Amino acid sequence: MRIDVFTLFPEWFDWLRRPRHLANAAELADLELRCFNYRDHTPLRQGQVDDAPYGGGPGMVIRVDVVAAAFEAVYGVPADRVRDERRVVVLTPRGRPFDDSLAREWAEEPAVTLLAGRYEGFDERVHDHLAGEAVSLGPFVLAGGEVAAMAMVDAVGRRLPGALGNRDSLEGESFSPTLAGRTEHPHYTRPAAFRGWEVPEVLRSGDHAAVEAWRRANLGPGPGEA
Ligand code: SAM
Repeated sequence: MRIDVFTLFPEWFDWLRRPRHLANAAELADLELRCFNYRDHTPLRQGQVDDAPYGGGPGMVIRVDVVAAAFEAVYGVPADRVRDERRVVVLTPRGRPFDDSLAREWAEEPAVTLLAGRYEGFDERVHDHLAGEAVSLGPFVLAGGEVAAMAMVDAVGRRLPGALGNRDSLEGESFSPTLAGRTEHPHYTRPAAFRGWEVPEVLRSGDHAAVEAWRRANLGPGPGEA
């Protein structure tokens, strides 16, 4: 799978190649993470990528011609055709909320492109003509799309074959169909007692049916229910 991130800060993503699950995905599932800087392809002078908003107001807006030039340099096709070949996602607080089902969906794709914004975000024509969908990390405003893109790469990458040492970890984890979209039960490990804080007796009983029943009874809330 290929994930391309367009950003003003491609070097921030260097660390993202190091976590074990993503290194595994790179080696075993051909995950290729590429990062491109809008500034490297801008047709404007002095690396300009943004401009003042029509109608006035504070902040700057990332220009559509800059994003189009970056697409054409990287993909070698007209910018508005890129979304015919791969999922092109603009990151924005007003997009569809990113969730586990979207992570599963993207993990099945051969190629996804994430557009990380800065300032006031993108000229609306990026949304309308270059991207195929708009996605939000959550109902809050980040300073830029980089952290959102990193979270999404992490969530998608861990679903790729070989990313996790034990693929069973993906079954029955939070938000999975096995748990009907709910979050997982609590976990405990040794010591059985620590400063008077006890592990529930049933988990130490060796009674598998009772343990299963306890876990089912102690599932966490689903999305938005906490
Ligand atoms: N003016 C925008 C607004 O009020 O909705 C906020 C722009 S934000 C400061 C700059 C960039 O950060 C956005 O273009 C987007 O790429 C990214 N960003 C901020 N919050 C985000 C979120 N919740 N999900 C995804 N991307 C986000």
